[in-house]
Amino acid sequence: MTEQIYKKFGVDDENHIIIAGPCSAETREQVLATAAGIADIPHINIYRTGIWKPRTKPNSFEGVGAKALPWLKEVKEKYKLKTAVEIAKPEHVEICLEHPESIDIVWLGARTTGNPFSVQAIADSLKGVDIPVMIKNPINPDLNLWIGATQRIINAGITNIIAIHRGFYPFSETHLRNIPKWEIAIDYRMQYPEIPMINDPSHISGSRKYVYEIAQRALNMNFNGLMIETHITPEKALSDAKQQITPKALNELLNNLNFRKKSFDSPQFLDLLQNYRDQIDSIDYQLLELLSKRMEIIKKIGKYKQQYNVSIFQLKRWMDILNSRIDFSKQFNLHEPFVKKILKPVHEEAIRLQIEIINDKKKSAP
Ligand code: PEP
Ligand code: MN
Repeated sequence: MTEQIYKKFGVDDENHIIIAGPCSAETREQVLATAAGIADIPHINIYRTGIWKPRTKPNSFEGVGAKALPWLKEVKEKYKLKTAVEIAKPEHVEICLEHPESIDIVWLGARTTGNPFSVQAIADSLKGVDIPVMIKNPINPDLNLWIGATQRIINAGITNIIAIHRGFYPFSETHLRNIPKWEIAIDYRMQYPEIPMINDPSHISGSRKYVYEIAQRALNMNFNGLMIETHITPEKALSDAKQQITPKALNELLNNLNFRKKSFDSPQFLDLLQNYRDQIDSIDYQLLELLSKRMEIIKKIGKYKQQYNVSIFQLKRWMDILNSRIDFSKQFNLHEPFVKKILKPVHEEAIRLQIEIINDKKKSAP
């Protein structure tokens, strides 16, 4: 299935899916000049742009709408690029479907994915057609909204889907416009392993400065590609001016990125990898065995405390455990927040088991 999705998006499944283009289509000249720059870069075959722009505040530039259709037709014809635009309403879908000469692919933006009514209305308008659809994560760090939107699009009969990870509302001040929360992207990929996922470092960064760093991080994590906002004169852009880069900068950025291979077919590589994995497996099983032993002793302590009517949670003992384990792990170069993070659920489980002992006792009391 993944192979078929790649074909529909015009990408060879050995390659990464690289999508570039301006945040918004502004003028014919800007659309075409940006496309000309992008078309010269190897491995880019999808041109993105917004023609209907969902803006946080009114009276901002809201896109040129259907006026951009002839410009996108020219992009397709002159530069042999596939074109993708954001859709937010059934009317947008209708216009895109009526103009296959201008638009190949559509995507749901972050503000739309977060709204089940809008997603359902769009899904209904997509029924019975076979246009590739990309689904950005919602603004809220809520995996289920993203999954739900995907289900609605799948239920409409769309088989060619790509997920786009564009980060989440940060809630507090950060250097990035949106925080990546990579773990949510990983959870999504676990639910839909057959759906390629690409990363949008532009909307995560919010600034040209961080686009490279986020893009590399995504590639290290085996994302299937990137969507990077590219504008012929970024500083003059009518939307997202700070995060867009020129086609020239995009070319350099792509040349500097390390595109890791999904795997490497050499027998020596696979042998050693398997060897490492066997060692990890063995260590994991030992860890689980040790945890189980620890919990058996906890049960004994629980019964003992019960017998002498001593309280379960002992603050001093917990602080000693935490501090001594953190001190001990320093010699092994274990990251302190990680050690804290794993000790907490172990302690919580110990408390839970001891409470269970009290409850069992109550149940069996005459
Ligand atoms: C965009 O791609 O220009 C856009 C509006 O993105 P998002 O929906 O991720 O905010
Ligand atoms: Mn944008």
